[in-house]
Order: sequence, then C-alpha cells, then structure tokens
Amino acid sequence: MMETNYRVCSRCVMDTSDSQIKFNKDGICNHCTEYFSLVTANQEQHDSNTEKFAGILDTIKKVGKDHEYDCIIGISGGVDSTYLAYLVKQEFGLRPYAVHLDNGWNSKLAVKNIRNILKRLEIDLYTHVIDWEEFKSLQKAYFAASVIDIEAITDHSINAVLYQVAAENNVKYILKGFNNATEKIMPKSWTFNKRDAINIQDINDKYGTIKLSSFPLMSNEKLNDYEKSMKIQTISPFNYIKFDKDAAKKLIIDELGWVDYGGKHYESIFTRFYQGYILPRKFSVDKRKAHYSNLICAGVMARKDALEEIKQAPYDEEMIKEDYEYVTKKLEYSKEEFESILKAPVKSHFNYKTDLNSKIFKKYISPTNPIVSMIKKLRK
Ligand SMILES: [Zn+2]
Repeated sequence: MMETNYRVCSRCVMDTSDSQIKFNKDGICNHCTEYFSLVTANQEQHDSNTEKFAGILDTIKKVGKDHEYDCIIGISGGVDSTYLAYLVKQEFGLRPYAVHLDNGWNSKLAVKNIRNILKRLEIDLYTHVIDWEEFKSLQKAYFAASVIDIEAITDHSINAVLYQVAAENNVKYILKGFNNATEKIMPKSWTFNKRDAINIQDINDKYGTIKLSSFPLMSNEKLNDYEKSMKIQTISPFNYIKFDKDAAKKLIIDELGWVDYGGKHYESIFTRFYQGYILPRKFSVDKRKAHYSNLICAGVMARKDALEEIKQAPYDEEMIKEDYEYVTKKLEYSKEEFESILKAPVKSHFNYKTDLNSKIFKKYISPTNPIVSMIKKLRK
C-alpha cells in the first residue's frame, strides 16, 4: 500500500514510512543531514578524542586496580560486542567481566560464538537467564498492546543487568558496543525509550498474564542511584576510535573464529523475525532503510544498490516460514491469534503510562512538543 504522498530522500533511502521525516527544498531528509553534521563534528574532534580516550582508559585502570575486574562489557555474540570484547582485552589492556542476557531467543550459533570468543580471550562470563514464563507474558503483553518497540524489553533488561552486575562487583565502568557513526540513523518513531520502566510495567499490568517479579526492571530512580551514588558510568569506546565494521568483522573471524549470522542482529531468532517480518508487515517499517542509509552516508554503499536491495524480501523466504512456526509455537499462539495480532491497529507507546521524568524522555521530546499535551489527554 503506497500512500499518494509517498516520498523518499534524494540522498539516502529514508522515506515517509518514518512519519516524522522532514525534507528540505532539494528533497534531502533530516536523517542524512543530521548524520553529516555529526560526522563532521566527530572528525573535527578526532585528535582530541584519541587523547581523551587514552585518559579514560588510564582512569578505568586506576579506579579498578584493587578489584578482580575493572569494567563490565555486554556480549550478544554479534559483531559489535565481539569486536569490543577483543579490543577491551587485547588492545586496551583492561580486565573485563562479560555479561550476557539469555531471554530464551538466542540462536544456537550465538551461544556457540559467545562461548568460543570468551574462551579464546580468557574473559569470564556471567549469563543472566531471564525467567521464561515472565518474559513470555511480557512479550505477549507487548503484542496485545500493539506497540512498535517489542524489543524494548530486551534492551531494557540488558541495561538493568549490566548496572546490577557492575554494582555487585564494585565495578565503576560499563563499556558498550554502541556506535554513533554506524547507528546514527534510526527514526524515533520506529523505536521507543528503552529506559522507560513505567511503560513496561504498565503494559504488563494491562495485558500480562503474570506479575513481573524477577524481570530486571530499572526505574529512573534506580538508574540515578547507580550513576550518582555509586558513580557507575557507561562509555562507548566506538565513539572515540575509528570503527570500520568490515575490518572488525574480518578481524574477529580471523583472530577469534567468530561465525557470521548473515544479517544485522540475527544472533537472536526473535530479533530476526521482528525486524524481517513483524516490523514490515504490521508497522510498515523496514529497518534496512535506516541501516542502508547509514552505509550510504558512510560512503560504502551506493544508493541505487540500496533501493534495489530493499525491493527484495528482508530475509530468506524459507527461513521466514520456519521462524513463523518457531515463534508462534514458542509463544503459544495459534495461527489465527497471531494473524489477528498482526492485523490489529497499531497503538503508540504513549497510549500507556510513560516516565515523563526520564532524562531520555526529555531529550526524546521537548516539553513544547504538541505530543506532550496529547499524552496528557490520552491519559486523561
Ligand atoms: Zn536522507
């Protein structure tokens, strides 16, 4: 279904499937425009960043010198977190403790990759296994709530567990594999504030079948406590150093025997199905448009190739069928139930309680934005 006012950016491949996209008079969108202003700013800062990062590493070592570990790293088995683990140990000379979240959806290959990589790097691993019954209830609640960011519950709990493990082990630094330059383009209308525990709680209260008791929820107050009282900080090394994804991939294959999954974030079966099937079908969102736009801006993909790629199915048709069976069976949906979920009208996360005091929320939407009064009205 193509709307009559459909428009695609003339420089990248972002289009009106982002309801908030803006175009200038030359047909260039806000996403690639923001990308270039950020990258230019980063380049200008490059030298001082390198120096600054060396200082940060010194501090991490000094602060952690009397403890078993001096930093916490999250590991999913994907390229970014694997490469980060390599750098932290081999290049930065830190003593990391790796944390992995098992939400029940890991592919077998991801588990194998993680075990193998950390063994080679001699990094200790803590795996937090989420109570599957709770997680299933929560995932089904998100489906029933008809909101877009079903992955927010995974991202939220990873973050909560990272802080929790840092606090328990007296570690002050969490290092993340997030990268501004390759993950810059992602419309706000396609995701939601991952830190909003109130939204998660409210959706579970309304549609969940069991109460959340062990699910790692982190309220804004709790986060403040970690950051202010315990002085735990999060650092994204990839924002300070040059990050070349292809080179990173080659290095982890050659040095660590990492095995490719064939797609971004495909280490999780749910993520693969969510991005490749649920998002396009129910929400008319194809995240490849954001990923490819990043690559176009970075100068490593031609716009015409991206447009061609997008016309193809997000992933192998056979695999989609297999995943459809697997996901519906694991979540205990009949085909009819799942189809009616996919056809139900989409709702906004703002139809549910949100944490208006969260720092991210304030950054997300300015108080003068009309959406704020809309939220207040929705909540009556
Ligand atoms: Zn653009």
